[in-house]
Amino acid sequence: MTTTILKNAYLIDPTQEVKGWKDLEIIDGKVVKVCENINTINADKVYDLKGKLCVPGIIDTHVHLTLDGSNRGYYMLAKAGVTTALDMYGPPEKIYEHIHQYGTGINIACLAAQPQNTDNATHCDYDQHSIRKFIHSEMKRGALGIKLIGGHYPMSPELTKKFIQIANEEKAYIAFHVGTTNKGSNIEGFKEAIFLAEGNSFHVAHVNSYCRGQIQESIQEVQSAIELLSSNPHLVSESYLSRYNGTSGRCEKMIPISEVTSKCLIQNGFANTESGVENAIVAGIALVVANVGEINAFIENSEEALQYYRNKKGRVNLSFPINKIEAGLLLATAKNKAGDFIIPAISSDGGEIPRNVIIEKGIQMVKYGALTHEEFVLKTSVNPAKMLGLKNKGTLGIGFDADITVIDTAKEEPVMSMVMGEIIMHEGLVIGKKGRIITTDEGSDYVKMQNIDPYIVNIEDTLLYQRRNNK
Ligand SMILES: [Zn+2]
Repeated sequence: MTTTILKNAYLIDPTQEVKGWKDLEIIDGKVVKVCENINTINADKVYDLKGKLCVPGIIDTHVHLTLDGSNRGYYMLAKAGVTTALDMYGPPEKIYEHIHQYGTGINIACLAAQPQNTDNATHCDYDQHSIRKFIHSEMKRGALGIKLIGGHYPMSPELTKKFIQIANEEKAYIAFHVGTTNKGSNIEGFKEAIFLAEGNSFHVAHVNSYCRGQIQESIQEVQSAIELLSSNPHLVSESYLSRYNGTSGRCEKMIPISEVTSKCLIQNGFANTESGVENAIVAGIALVVANVGEINAFIENSEEALQYYRNKKGRVNLSFPINKIEAGLLLATAKNKAGDFIIPAISSDGGEIPRNVIIEKGIQMVKYGALTHEEFVLKTSVNPAKMLGLKNKGTLGIGFDADITVIDTAKEEPVMSMVMGEIIMHEGLVIGKKGRIITTDEGSDYVKMQNIDPYIVNIEDTLLYQRRNNK
């Protein structure tokens, strides 16, 4: 039996209506007591958190760990105070391969990206049977479901519709970065996605990305996105707070392979070619993400950035400062008439992409008065836990998992985080190892075979399926 006591922190937990300077006692990974002046005489470990904010562990519902092969995302998330994350690309194997060496104790859930070579594919190329087979082969390997990445690698509208329909029938989690061969990664693509879904549910990935001012003024697109989400309550979404997007720098036959990269180039007045990418890098518009020690960061010097891009033959993550700050603010704060947030969560779309700013920007919003402390906790832990069907997380209630993030609000940065009572980051030092995989009954045996502890959820408990069933 291990007893840990956190002393003198400012605790905020809207699920238990807790707010104030209190102590918190943890035994064997669970919260057992929250009150003032807990006796520390029998504790194994005591941490004095005077002056710090203590909240249910940050759950990031949109991250990337597998895109650039750097495996730095685990470290970067732990450093950013995250305790649970949803990887939006997979495949799950890539995570199992690397979590032993690079994992930092964070709980990881994973969606598997649509099958390879589905870009520009039509329904003739994929029948119902092969879609079902794809979904279950990924879920048997531990994925919660699938991610459609039409924004980058579009499929035909008919095939997209089939994937959404079958994922719903098979009770798989499904997220969609909107876009098809017919409509792009923008507000028109979002409308088309709702139309194609025909009342089926999906998780609208990073709704900001469709409000970048491609079709109308950005603010009008934000208004449309908010109206679409309010009038389609069977959808769930998340929004981020960073100015920077994340996309691929890769080109084939001298043309960027990602539609998003192409759009960013064109929108900024560059040619949609490999030399267009290079010119955008030299101009400091396309930022190149590189490994710097334990983390990934933007290369500040544009000549160095170009050299790195060429050395890697374009296989790098690029970021364009294409997200409107006012759009991020409005999406994060929009509420319906009942006073509930229309977009349940603040996410990062970070991980290995250096934009893990949930705490930094979220606390700035609290200071500005755009969110209360309780709302910050709702959007970064309580609601994200519901989105993933995590009934024992997103709360500091008695008997629940001791997943906790401690924040220095003056510095706008996390100072400590723990998962099931184990410290994974303390004063900026990442000490967590490995981590659990959040999976379903269907995937748990496979996860165990990889010598990783599964953490089991029921897809029916996710906000996506709760909303679908309530329709
Ligand atoms: Zn993403």
